[in-house]
Amino acid sequence: MSRAGRLVVLAILLSADRVSGQASTPVPPPGNQAIPEAFDVRAAVDAYLAKLPPAQRARSDAYFEGGYWLLLWDFLSTVVVMWLLLRFRWSARMRNLAESVTHLRPLQTALYWVQLVVTASVVTFPLDVYEGYFRECKYGLLNQTFGPWMWDQIVMLLVNVVLGAMLMVPLFGLVRRLGKSWWVWGATLTVVFAAFVSLIAPVYIAPLFNKYRTLQDPHIKDPILSMARANGIPATDVYEFDASRQSNRVSANVSGFAGTLRISLNDNLLKRCTLPEIETTMGHEMGHYVLNHAYKGLVMIGVLIVIGFALLNWGINFGLARWGLKWDVRGITDVAVLPLAVILFSFYFFLLTPVTNTISRTLEYEADMYGLNTAQQPDGEANVDMLLGEYRKLDPSPFEEFIFFDHPSGRTRITAAMRWKAEHPQSSSAEEMARPIFNTK
Ligand SMILES: [Zn+2]
Repeated sequence: MSRAGRLVVLAILLSADRVSGQASTPVPPPGNQAIPEAFDVRAAVDAYLAKLPPAQRARSDAYFEGGYWLLLWDFLSTVVVMWLLLRFRWSARMRNLAESVTHLRPLQTALYWVQLVVTASVVTFPLDVYEGYFRECKYGLLNQTFGPWMWDQIVMLLVNVVLGAMLMVPLFGLVRRLGKSWWVWGATLTVVFAAFVSLIAPVYIAPLFNKYRTLQDPHIKDPILSMARANGIPATDVYEFDASRQSNRVSANVSGFAGTLRISLNDNLLKRCTLPEIETTMGHEMGHYVLNHAYKGLVMIGVLIVIGFALLNWGINFGLARWGLKWDVRGITDVAVLPLAVILFSFYFFLLTPVTNTISRTLEYEADMYGLNTAQQPDGEANVDMLLGEYRKLDPSPFEEFIFFDHPSGRTRITAAMRWKAEHPQSSSAEEMARPIFNTK
């Protein structure tokens, strides 16, 4: 996705997800086995972790650890591109071009935005194509050929152009009218906009990339709807979508806001997982729903956005006082200042990576607890957690988990599941424990 567009896509931070697996076996009934007296949680966790063969585990670790560096390269490439736009006055030229086309200021802002997003996307394309296509292919995580992958990128670019313009036009309107206090209202507008994007995403954005339909198979649908009813969730709100178009990753999510809030699960989950595994995953997603994580996430990210705008206001004034003339940027009301704003906001959120990850990881952990209590399938939970180990490091150091993990690690999640199982011996499932979830090829 384009860098400049990431400002906009903050809203999508609010959707919570979950992932992965591979062998398909007939759905076994949940077993009821007595657990030996002194159940050793740690040994049970290690037994699950051992299900992923060492070679595949090394591959998954390498993939995930490479992602740590990509955070840095993405940040640096954004800063360099934005700085070049200012330093060589390309930003000022894009503004001049917009002004020569129309006298209407909102339209000038929109025209400038289009040029900025397209330019930034073209310049960072080599890194984006490596990261999103070649690297994913190398690790066997992509099901798409280049053409369909590229088409998805173009659609995403258009979404960023349209949504970004919808934010930038009123934002610069506020800056021009409100003067010094613009950042308070700018932050408020951005939070409201994030809620708006979340509201329309399931209906207008997600269908651009995948086909959604209500879940049909009664063997899966009925138990899920029963769980949903038991948890006070509108019973028709379970959707399935064709994520296999892009990858084999198992995933489900809660998306939307207010009237569009819905739970969706992907076709990989349906194909690769047993009923207990699907149930525990849906229990997790229902946790996000019932615990109002969409709203709590918005409030927490909202606080960061308000602080971010205060720093943005200070940083823009500081930068323009020094280099404004050199860059031919007339002031804070001039759209040509946007690359500076992108640099400052990228820096802020780059430094906040452990904070935003911890906000997400904490909510995910809550949803795990909710899923365990609702579905009561600790062994199914452990198998799904292992499937995520295809592309997320299973056993990181606590420091690594704190900094880089937006979901708890496999070890943390399986430890929670086995701890739950130790207190609920009747929930143990021999079938789930014995199920080989990875092809050992
Ligand atoms: Zn989740």
